[in-house]
Amino acid sequence: MYFKKLENAPEGYTYDDFLMIPSASSVEPKDVKTKSRVSNNHDLNIPIISSAMDTVTESAMAIALAQEGGIGLIHRNMTIEEQVEEVKNVKTSSDLTIRDVITISPDSTIKDANDIMNYEEVSGLPVVEDDTVIGIISKRDIIPIINSDYNKKVKDFMTEEVLTIPESTSPDDALDIAYENKVERLPVVRDGKIMGIVTVRDILERKKFPNASRDKKGKFLVAAATGPFDLERAMALDDAGADIIAIDVAHAHNLNVVNSSKTIKDNIDADLIAGNIATSEAAEDLLAKEIDGLKVGIGPGSICTTRIIAGVGVPQLTAVSQVADVAAQYDVPVIADGGLRFSGDIAKAIAVGADSVMLGSLLAGTHEAPGDVVIMNGRKFKQYRGMGSLGAMTGGFGAGTDRYFQEVKGSMKHSKLVPEGVEGVVPYKGPVSEVLFQLIGGLKSSMGYCGAETIKDMKEKSKFIKITASGMAESHPHDLTITNESPNYPTTRLM
Ligand code: 5GP
Repeated sequence: MYFKKLENAPEGYTYDDFLMIPSASSVEPKDVKTKSRVSNNHDLNIPIISSAMDTVTESAMAIALAQEGGIGLIHRNMTIEEQVEEVKNVKTSSDLTIRDVITISPDSTIKDANDIMNYEEVSGLPVVEDDTVIGIISKRDIIPIINSDYNKKVKDFMTEEVLTIPESTSPDDALDIAYENKVERLPVVRDGKIMGIVTVRDILERKKFPNASRDKKGKFLVAAATGPFDLERAMALDDAGADIIAIDVAHAHNLNVVNSSKTIKDNIDADLIAGNIATSEAAEDLLAKEIDGLKVGIGPGSICTTRIIAGVGVPQLTAVSQVADVAAQYDVPVIADGGLRFSGDIAKAIAVGADSVMLGSLLAGTHEAPGDVVIMNGRKFKQYRGMGSLGAMTGGFGAGTDRYFQEVKGSMKHSKLVPEGVEGVVPYKGPVSEVLFQLIGGLKSSMGYCGAETIKDMKEKSKFIKITASGMAESHPHDLTITNESPNYPTTRLM
């Protein structure tokens, strides 16, 4: 009976076990569309999510990813209040309307107006009486008179005809109105009262990111992690405007987690993603609770030691494909989380049914990841650590402990924790936009080889060939010493 366990054991495969076979294709990489679903109600223009790790995703990373069309999953190794602030940072950073608008009263002096504009570094002020805009005064109005008439009143020099816009005005319409009327700022009014201001500069800035992930109001999409039993956190994140909440736990097929996922789902408006899992049975059990997305990966992560410490895991391509087969029947999206080292891995994950991928190590070295650059032997690095590492479990809010079903009581010693992750550094890579450019470029190239114009095509049309270790050795550059490091094939070996 015991031997049968081994004899009947299935074989598990991961990224390096397969390549995709090139096929006849009329698809040019530049024409490929990388739009995909991340959860039941949210799409991404690039299928990339940053990991909920304290060395990967806080608001700076989430903003950068949303600008490029992906989404950041804000980690939970902080208090609820701090995490709520991070979510709000992402949302307000994309708010076209400046809400804490600086105004001036009609009876203020020209000198006051000049001082405020200099101090606040703005070039114009709405003139407001009883919250109603009655004029606008700009630097241009002030410059000719600042030395002669500085004690005169704002109301004598302001422009009285002020163009205002209602809150519902789209950025394109606001730009048209501003251009047609040759104004640089448009006060936004609600029921006749000022509630913000939109500037041409901000509209043009926004146009730099045509692929950005946005909600219905035009604000950046953001996801945030919660503990499996932390309903209070989930509800606070929901209230703060998180579009997606992800249950962040090492084993989401723990039946207590499955049950609590339903409680969380019933108490939030945001989409709920659950993970991590690695089997079709786990997918069935979670989908029965009407989850909006599944996250797959037990042990593939670069900082992860679960497979060594617990001897448990499923090689990632097998895990993703098995979960995706079940998720497809429910029409629920799947995220392949962890273990991706090159852009080709993203393409393979999608080809076996993932709708998007979650990246930790590939993004941890970027400028937008939390933490400072450290210099070792003249090269730049950033810290990267597993959420189940000792450092993450004992630092911050200790979120790593319940992720791995452990408890820290009082001044408990490190020696009472069983880590399932390690701490280290990864090479510094500069802005995340440059890393994403390479990753998405690689995905597009792959889709061109496979004749796939869309993510759906890629799932349906791609074909695999299983390779041996020598096949993989042949795949990497060989028989030369690389002299110029390529941006999508780093050769910095850390050890
Ligand atoms: P990477 O992209 O670096 O290969 O993997 C990142 C993923 O590893 C994360 O999104 C998360 O699912 C997983 N992870 C993060 N920290 C740990 C850890 O300490 N242990 C384990 N088992 N997995 C981790």
